[in-house]
Amino acid sequence: MNCPVCGGNSVGKVGLEQFYCWECFLEYQRHGDIVKIFSVAEDGSLVDFQPVG
Ligand SMILES: [Zn+2]
Repeated sequence: MNCPVCGGNSVGKVGLEQFYCWECFLEYQRHGDIVKIFSVAEDGSLVDFQPVG
């Protein structure tokens, strides 16, 4: 899949329905048609990403 934020293809699969964009440094989890976006904290935990605008 392409990154839903930057539209790039620098997205790697990190788990079942989980993807990571090396451009945005954001992780995505796909739930059917819904994609949830997380930023990754320094300790590796996932934080809900709130898009600006
Ligand atoms: Zn991206």
